[in-house]
Amino acid sequence: MKAIQVKQPGGPEAMELVELPVPQPKANEAVVKLAASGVNFIDVYFREGRYKAPLPLVLGQEGAGVVTAVGADAMSVKPGDRVAWSGPMGSYAEYAAVPADRLVSIPSGVTDEHAAAVMLQGMTAHYLSHDTYPLKRGETALVHAAAGGVGLLLVQMAHHIGARVIATVSTEQKAKLAREAGADEVILYTQSDFEAETKRLTGGKGVDVVYDSVGKTTFEKGLNILRPRGMIVLFGGSSGAVPPFDLIALSQKGSLYVTRPTLGHYTATREELMTRSGAVFGMIATGKLKLRIEHSYPLAEAQQAHRDLEGRKTTGKLLLIP
Ligand code: NDP
Repeated sequence: MKAIQVKQPGGPEAMELVELPVPQPKANEAVVKLAASGVNFIDVYFREGRYKAPLPLVLGQEGAGVVTAVGADAMSVKPGDRVAWSGPMGSYAEYAAVPADRLVSIPSGVTDEHAAAVMLQGMTAHYLSHDTYPLKRGETALVHAAAGGVGLLLVQMAHHIGARVIATVSTEQKAKLAREAGADEVILYTQSDFEAETKRLTGGKGVDVVYDSVGKTTFEKGLNILRPRGMIVLFGGSSGAVPPFDLIALSQKGSLYVTRPTLGHYTATREELMTRSGAVFGMIATGKLKLRIEHSYPLAEAQQAHRDLEGRKTTGKLLLIP
């Protein structure tokens, strides 16, 4: 089978198209023939070695397709089932072996492409808005990189909850998309100071929560735009890692809360995985959540997909099609 492998960490060129044997399932695993694989920023971190994994590594942590083989103990799925997952590595390939208890069935109203597009970013937007800081009607949230993969989904969910959404994006085209997704206010943070703008937009009160996936270039100012006892949810570092900071700042700026969550801890049990994926699939099937699949690349063009993602050229979701 064809797969995208990293032998040594590096830039996009570190990803090689290779021929590997089709994986055989271990006792607890199922083998999935991929229809689509999701591209996520976390794949960049693993490719460049910011996050560590044993090498050589088949990249990709999100996919959807059909079960072709099951291990002796993998009772929850059978060959022919349409399934999707996020988390276990190896989806940039024609086949992947995945622990069966990490697979969820794709409902009939959801396509394979949509399932591959939403498992990671959709469940992330869901846990951020419903559990990490459970937004309430009438509250105000600031969402950075609002036209990105997670961003567009998070804006929609926050809007449906009834929160006021202030979005940041880098271009006018992205601003339009954020507005269409439900953002009430959009700040071009590459052109104006989002700290000053947010203070103005909230009449100096600040926002209840900042959802920050950008990190290095946004985190510190994010602390300055929270209401007293507000929360900054740092869930990524697309611009780089946040440098260490003195916790006393949290007290001085208003007894603030900061958390650095990750999807794995919000889908840790089978029950939570099923509830969360079911909620997200339900939103898609009923049209409440609109997916924007910006581009589907052939598997062999994974390097280009990463270049586009890192180059801030993309909005919404990128897929690889084996
Ligand atoms: P995106 O589609 O959001 O792409 C990243 C976006 O970040 C860019 O489009 C860009 O938007 C913005 N950005 C700002 N500064 C930079 C920079 N210097 N270089 C590159 N991009 C920049 O990606 P994803 O939706 O896949 O992921 C978004 C973030 O969420 C990532 O940091 C990812 O690691 C994180 N994440 C965290 C999870 C968790 O559970 N903790 C789960 C899923 C994702 P603009 O041009 O508008 O500034």
